[in-house]
Amino acid sequence: MLDDAGVEAVFERFATADPDPDWSPKGPRDPFKTLVGVVLSARTQGVNTEKAARQLFALADTPGALAALPLPEIAARIVPAGLYNQKAKGLKAMAEALVRDHGGRVPGTREGLMDLPGVGRKSADIVLRFALRHPVCAVDTHVFRVSRRLGLAASPTPDKVADELARRTPERFGMGAHLWLFRHGRDVCRGRRPRCVACLLEDLCEKNGVRDAV
Ligand code: SF4
Repeated sequence: MLDDAGVEAVFERFATADPDPDWSPKGPRDPFKTLVGVVLSARTQGVNTEKAARQLFALADTPGALAALPLPEIAARIVPAGLYNQKAKGLKAMAEALVRDHGGRVPGTREGLMDLPGVGRKSADIVLRFALRHPVCAVDTHVFRVSRRLGLAASPTPDKVADELARRTPERFGMGAHLWLFRHGRDVCRGRRPRCVACLLEDLCEKNGVRDAV
């Protein structure tokens, strides 16, 4: 495991290379649409998620409107996202809970979000980070892998890695952490054949579990 100085050095390196990771042409995100997007994105690609979301939001873009839609209609709209019957059930249950228990508003806490049907730690943290602008590092497959390889965290599950990152990430890097680690995992520290020779962190990295670096 990296010590505190090592953790600081890693994030300092990311911050120097990419000082404004959050830049987006799309502006602030709507919490409800972010939540729906996270549910739709399970086990599919971004382009499919976006298509399904667009089709669904054309018909229902609030919890009340989604809760009122019949299941087959939700399923038909989200076919591009795959697992559409299962996801439609989850989305309807989530929308009904928002209307019934939260007056049609998305809760602003991790606990409140995780009380919703089908919402786990990663989904809650994505809403907190991207829609509600909390300095939270959501741990997806890329963030999980990179954090463990680098030695930022050592826990065996994403939720525990999320706890470790929350404890160990210096406050000033809180808003950047997710995007830096996610993009690094997607583009450089890939699951297979990580590009260690092209990595800006090679001198700092513990390379835990890396056997096939290029
Ligand atoms: S040196 Fe290799 S294993 Fe370490 S972060 Fe970079 S790409 Fe990943």
